[in-house]
Amino acid sequence: MENRIGVYICHCGTNIAGKLDIQELASFASKLEGVVVAREYKYMCSDPGQEMIKKDIKELGLNRIVVAACSPQMHEQTFRRVLNEAGLNPYLFQMANVREQDSWVTGDSKLATQKAARLIAAAVRRVSNHEPLQIKTFGVNPAALVVGGGITGIEAALRIADSGRRVYLVEKEPSIGGHMAQFDKTFPTLDCAACILTPKMSSVGVHPNIELLTYSEVEEFSGFAGNFKVKIKKKARYVDPEKCTSCGLCQEKCPVKVSSEFDCGLGMRKAIYTPFPQAVPNIPVIDTENCLFFTKGVCKVCQKVCPADAVKFDDKDEFVEVDVGAVIVSTGFDVFDPSVAAQYGYRRYDNVVTSLEFERMCNASGPTGGKILLKSGDTPKSLAILHCIGSRDENYHEYCSRICCMQSMKFAHLVREKLPNAKVYEFYIDLRAFGKGYEEFYKRVLNEDVIFIRGKGAEVTNFAETPEEEGKLIVRCEDTLLGSVLRVPVDMVVLSVALEPRRDSNKVAKTFLLSRSKDGFFLERHPKLAPVSTTNDGIYIAGVCQGPKDIPDSVAQGGAAAAEVLSLIDRGKVTTEPEIAVIDEKRCSACFVCIRACPFNAIKFDEDKNVAVVQEALCKACGVCVAACPSGAIKQQGFTDGQIYAEMEGILAI
Ligand code: SF4
Ligand code: SF4
Repeated sequence: MENRIGVYICHCGTNIAGKLDIQELASFASKLEGVVVAREYKYMCSDPGQEMIKKDIKELGLNRIVVAACSPQMHEQTFRRVLNEAGLNPYLFQMANVREQDSWVTGDSKLATQKAARLIAAAVRRVSNHEPLQIKTFGVNPAALVVGGGITGIEAALRIADSGRRVYLVEKEPSIGGHMAQFDKTFPTLDCAACILTPKMSSVGVHPNIELLTYSEVEEFSGFAGNFKVKIKKKARYVDPEKCTSCGLCQEKCPVKVSSEFDCGLGMRKAIYTPFPQAVPNIPVIDTENCLFFTKGVCKVCQKVCPADAVKFDDKDEFVEVDVGAVIVSTGFDVFDPSVAAQYGYRRYDNVVTSLEFERMCNASGPTGGKILLKSGDTPKSLAILHCIGSRDENYHEYCSRICCMQSMKFAHLVREKLPNAKVYEFYIDLRAFGKGYEEFYKRVLNEDVIFIRGKGAEVTNFAETPEEEGKLIVRCEDTLLGSVLRVPVDMVVLSVALEPRRDSNKVAKTFLLSRSKDGFFLERHPKLAPVSTTNDGIYIAGVCQGPKDIPDSVAQGGAAAAEVLSLIDRGKVTTEPEIAVIDEKRCSACFVCIRACPFNAIKFDEDKNVAVVQEALCKACGVCVAACPSGAIKQQGFTDGQIYAEMEGILAI
């Protein structure tokens, strides 16, 4: 069929028309091969602009359209919809970007008009080679998977479940709660963390729409938005959750004591344990690395004392397979280990502790019952809190961890509450109190007789230079306000350590095909416009796994990710772009190169036909396989060699 092309040139107010000679371009376009009509209009994306195109398609029998305007990212979908509404296949369309790629970036009007002419000629040649393409539609499974049961994952799971949808919440640890369960009070309102977290944890535990899979990990993951398949490994707990009554007798009688991870090594737990008293589920697990039965074949005390006959030493890992339509990854963070920064004396000096350890110490249900104590059991008379340990430091993490300033001031307040006569020093680079109520909290702490020293703590030493430094830890720092080097002797040093990507981030990223930013956190699709979406449709990220943030922001992101999931589920269908790779079976030599090259695992091998096959819903149209195939058997629809060459010829022809 003869090509009948319409070309439409947009003024975009003065964005384009202020630089380009639009009349000259319309006249130029009208003479190009196959062009039936060339028009210009002030705002082509407006209703009258769209109507003009639709009318021409119907009245002039146009079968291909070129719009010279802004970027395809801005309005390609708008104009494809116009074609569709006029009864034309939406892929018989091409956009020439004469704004971002021309009028905005070219100084001289004449040259800019010449460049626009080349871009329009290229688009006309290209669209002449376009073929109709069909969008495919798939249903959406209404269930969701949430990976990570900290406050972010809890919030997301509850929001989705409350709307009546099924949620599988997978948590690696024996209980949900994450780091927030370890905290004492939360800034700036000083709410007790447990008081606001545990009701939410309990709601998750009893929610009829949430299947809670703790002590579990995602083993295999496949599929596409709306239709994911997940294989989850439930690690053996060695305690039957159906029988266990959470009486705690097993933990009481177990003879093995090991250091408690939950208490950051400041307290002890047994070999059969629940991480903390409010754990959800409140079912113990046996730590096989320390249990006497698993290490030496003796004991079984827990089984003997259990009145419910719940301990089962022959328990095995189980695998569960579930289908979901969407996924939220909220795997949280690790804290920086300051022992790699030897200058701070962590693990060398008894009374240098991290912020997380100090949280446990301040917590009434922590290892010291909420008392701030030195290793000797005495009460410190002076404390130094050092900000930015591992953050804003080119040797470790260049980013700001966003919580350390406020957390450190919260610590100062807690010290003031618990030890009214102690001296408290804050060593800071600068204070970042950006959240709601944060500046007010800073002012409150300023009035609580806390000594703020502007200068990053450079070193912690026990090398005394004066009698008053004897037996003390000395913080060395340059006070950047006074311009002098200080030595401040204290009894205890608290290192406000960085938040960093979890050690297993790489594995999680590979499982869910997530990208990671330079700092190692998971990368969002767009930092402002799509902060919880990823480039993998149907998979969302929320909380600190995306980047350091405080509790309010983590909860907000959990809610945002839940809203994205619910919006996808409520749409009930997903469409896939047809501009994907297709393999010519006759030319495929079964070399497997494309299968190995595809970063989205979208190509599988058909054993019966002995050829590689693109799974349409998984292909992200990156084009890697097209370039990699040594047999030239793969083409990308919408980006064929013919179309790309035609475009280049259009640019070079004038
Ligand atoms: S078998 Fe013994 S050591 Fe192992 S968890 Fe039970 S009580 Fe503890
Ligand atoms: S003794 Fe038995 S019922 Fe009690 S907490 Fe331990 S496993 Fe559960």
